[in-house]
Amino acid sequence: MADSKKFHEKNREERLNTVKSFARLSDEDIKILRNDGGISFEQANHMVENVIGTLSFPLGIATNFKINGKEYLIPMVIEESSVIAAASKAAKIARKHGGFIMKSDESYSIGQIQLVDVNAKSAIPKVLKASKKILELANSKSKTLSKMKKGAKKVTCKKLETKSGTMLIVELLIDVGDAMGANVTNTMCEAVAPLLEKITGGRAILKILSNYSTKRLVRGRAIFDKDEVGGKQVVDNIIHAYHFAANDPYRAVTHNKGVMNGIIAVANSTGQDTRAIEAASHAFASKDGNYTSLTRWKKDKQGNLVGEIEVPMPVGIVGGIINIHPMIKVATKILGVKSAKELACVIGAVGLAQNFSAIRALASEGIQKGHMRLHAKNIAASAGVPKGKIDEVVSRMVKEGNVSVTRAREILGQL
Ligand code: NAD
Repeated sequence: MADSKKFHEKNREERLNTVKSFARLSDEDIKILRNDGGISFEQANHMVENVIGTLSFPLGIATNFKINGKEYLIPMVIEESSVIAAASKAAKIARKHGGFIMKSDESYSIGQIQLVDVNAKSAIPKVLKASKKILELANSKSKTLSKMKKGAKKVTCKKLETKSGTMLIVELLIDVGDAMGANVTNTMCEAVAPLLEKITGGRAILKILSNYSTKRLVRGRAIFDKDEVGGKQVVDNIIHAYHFAANDPYRAVTHNKGVMNGIIAVANSTGQDTRAIEAASHAFASKDGNYTSLTRWKKDKQGNLVGEIEVPMPVGIVGGIINIHPMIKVATKILGVKSAKELACVIGAVGLAQNFSAIRALASEGIQKGHMRLHAKNIAASAGVPKGKIDEVVSRMVKEGNVSVTRAREILGQL
C-alpha cells in the first residue's frame, strides 16, 4: 500500500478506497459494501424458511498477508474483538521470512451409500468389479464436472459390524472442482444407489456426503522471527503452550477455538458452510484417538518459531450462497482467489496466524491486556454511556481493572 497511514488508522472512506484500488472494485461493489447488512428481506426469504428479518455482523479486513508469494487483503466476518487485529499482526511478523507457504489437496468429497440386509463379504468384490459402471453413472449427473475432467474418481467399500447387523458402506471419491460440493455428492450417491442394490442384493438407506473431509486437507507453515515474537523466552513459552495443547484436550479445545476464530471468520465472509468446516476439523483433531492441537509449533536452527497447520477445508468459490449474496460476492472479489484450493490455502493461513497471536499473547503478557480495552468499550456502550464519554469511562475501568456494566454506570454518574 503506497499511502503512509496504516489500514487501522484510516476512516471508513479511506479503508474503502484502499480496498477498492487493491481489488479493482467497481462503484457498484462499493455501494454494496456501504449497504450495512448486505441482503434485503426478499433475498433472505428466498434463502431460508420463516424469515422475519436479517442480522448483520462486522466485516473487517485483515492486512499484511502474504501467502504462497501473493499479497492478500482478507475479509473477515466476526463479532469477537481483537481477532482481525491479531491476524494482521501475525501476518506482519510472518512476512519477514516469506509469509505463509500453503498447499491444498484436490477438492475431493466423499459420498457414502449405506447398504443393509447384505452379505458384505461377497458383495464387496462385485461392487469393486463394477467400479467403472458406477463411476460412469455418477458422472452422468454433472456435465460441468465431467467437462472439467473432474467428478467421481474411485469406488471403495467398507464393512461395518453394528447392533443392527452387518452393513456395507460404499464410498465415492469425487473431485468437486471449485464447489464445496455437498449437493453434487448427494446427487451422485442417490443416482448410484439403485445400481448398488442390484449388484449387492442389499437395501440402500442413507445416500449422503461425509463431512469428514480427510481427502481435502490444507496444510502449510510460516516462520515467525524470534526477535519480533518477543525473544527466546517467548518462543520457548509458545512451544510449552503448544505442548500443553498437544497433550491435554481441555487446553486443545481452546487452542483450536483460536484457530477457528481465523478460519470461520474468513469462511463467513466468503459464504462457506462453516458447520461442515467445524465438524471436519474437530473430528480431524481426534484422528489418532485423542483430541489434540490442529497446529504444531517448533524452533528452527536460528531459534525462530515455526508454525504448521493441517486441517480439512471443504470450501468453494461457486455454489451455495457464494454467487447469490451480494456482500459475499464482493468479499470474495476483495480476496481475489481463483480456485477453491487457493481459498483453502488462505483460510488455513489465517487459522495458523490466529493461533500464533493467541498463544503469543497467552505465553507473554496474557490475553486480557489487548482484549480489555475493546471489551470495556462494549461494556460501556451496553451500560448506556454516551459516545462522548466512552473513552473516559473505558480508561478508568481498564486502569482500575474493574470492567463491568455496574462500574461503567457508577463512573458515568460521577462524570
Ligand atoms: P451447489 O449445489 O450450488 O452446486 C455447485 C454448482 O456449481 C453446480 O451446479 C456445478 O455444476 C456448478 N459449477 C460451476 N462451475 C463449477 C466449478 N468450477 N467447479 C464445480 N462446480 C461448478 O453447491 P454445492 O457446493 O454442491 O453445495 C453447497 C451447499 O450445500 C452449501 O450451501 C451447503 O450448506 C449445502 N449442503 C451441505 C450439506 C452438508 O454439508 N452435509 C448437505 C446438503 C447441502
